[in-house]
Amino acid sequence: MNICVIGTGYVGLVTGVVFADLGNDVICVDKIAAKVDGLNKGIMPIYEPGLEEMVARNVADGRLTFTTDVEASVSKAEIVFIAVGTPPKEDGSTNLSYVEDAAKLIARSLNSYKVIVNKSTVPVGTGNFVREVIETNKRRAIDFDVVSNPEFLREGSAISDTLYPDRIVIGAPNRIVAMRLLELYAPLERPMIITDVASAEMIKYASNAFLATKISFANAIANICEEAGADVAQVVKGMGLDGRIGQAFLNAGIGYGGSCFPKDTRSLLHTAQSYGYEFPLLDATIATNDEQPKRFIRKIHKVLGDDLSGKTIGVLGLAFKPNTDDMREAKSIDIINDLLSSGAQVRAYDPIAIENTREILPEITYCGNAYEVAAGAHALIVVTEWNEFKLLNLERVRGIMAAPVVFDGRNIYDPERMAQMGFSYYGVGRGQSATKDTASAEAASYANAAPAAGA
Ligand code: NAD
Repeated sequence: MNICVIGTGYVGLVTGVVFADLGNDVICVDKIAAKVDGLNKGIMPIYEPGLEEMVARNVADGRLTFTTDVEASVSKAEIVFIAVGTPPKEDGSTNLSYVEDAAKLIARSLNSYKVIVNKSTVPVGTGNFVREVIETNKRRAIDFDVVSNPEFLREGSAISDTLYPDRIVIGAPNRIVAMRLLELYAPLERPMIITDVASAEMIKYASNAFLATKISFANAIANICEEAGADVAQVVKGMGLDGRIGQAFLNAGIGYGGSCFPKDTRSLLHTAQSYGYEFPLLDATIATNDEQPKRFIRKIHKVLGDDLSGKTIGVLGLAFKPNTDDMREAKSIDIINDLLSSGAQVRAYDPIAIENTREILPEITYCGNAYEVAAGAHALIVVTEWNEFKLLNLERVRGIMAAPVVFDGRNIYDPERMAQMGFSYYGVGRGQSATKDTASAEAASYANAAPAAGA
């Protein structure tokens, strides 16, 4: 099939290359010329495992091309995907201006019947909006259909999620149109669900809101555990083994970030309220998530004091989650900004997100590995749970730190083992309240120690 994908970001690029890999002819369009030029030279705009190789293979085989020319690309395609960004507005609602622009461009390029597929995450009702925009702007009396096909890929495993999705959701106005999409996805041999357009749009938001709620629920339980002397890691393990609950998205920490959950939860809340439903459950999910990093920052200050001048703090992990270089709504930004405004010197390392972080946080010192971060630090803060941090030589880390204090925002270490190794360890909900005077006093005395020499 001839396919055009408008928007060559995480979703558009991965969708395009996977369809090409399945044997389709795919043109990926983006309005940013530098991105398109880079892709034509084999330079990926994002980090995603396996992406570069798959793009190279399909470009070499002539099935995948990149361009800024929407009109030429749309006119050649039978199916046109819209995969542009849908960022949040101030009031939490979704900014549909990129979707609208894409729809206008499609309208002007319409030269034969086409199926227009909305892959961007858009509020319920946007299918009708896209249809209206195209109807209003098309230059010829040509028919088209609008389908909703929300995307569920996760950054960091986008290729594999696209090849092996749990389900493919197709919201189509009728069975004939749905069949076009079924045919396209058939080679993946994955479960497909066919719905009306509005239900498909709603499935995406309901799924993300539910997952975000699971995370906030685990964090709320963690906050009680912390005060009550229970260990949330054991609690969620015990909960998750119940098949009705499941382990996924039940890890306590400093909250969810990234380009999807924060904006999608707010957008769904806004949609609910626009229909007169307050959705207190989702409101609480968002509020819990907003509060979680603030609690963590308060814990750091409780232990180290409000004034951090003269102290070096090491930060492990910058990206909003492991295996991505995406810094959108990354918790590291708020945490580091607080440390800087409290007078600390900040040293940080992330396996792949450093380049993207430099633009956001130019004033911190970037290190080549976790040990460089730890050297001379008065405290280490784990912000992103990269596997390589789980496997650090912690004896070595303790030896090179100025004070063996670890704030583990992702609960990657075992509190007992950390204590045995001589660390003052503060996880999230690990039954170790930073309000306990003994722990705080001990850590504060470490934190005032002079930096150790060498790495
Ligand atoms: P992105 O910002 O990485 O990419 C969007 C791309 O669209 C950009 O390269 C931009 O230049 C391009 N673009 C915007 N307007 C254009 C136009 N008129 N013509 C051509 N190109 C245009 O965004 P993303 O992360 O890929 O997300 C895209 C959509 O998919 C969003 O609605 C998002 O919520 C949703 N989504 C994202 C993920 C994810 O993990 N990133 C997962 C599922 C769904």
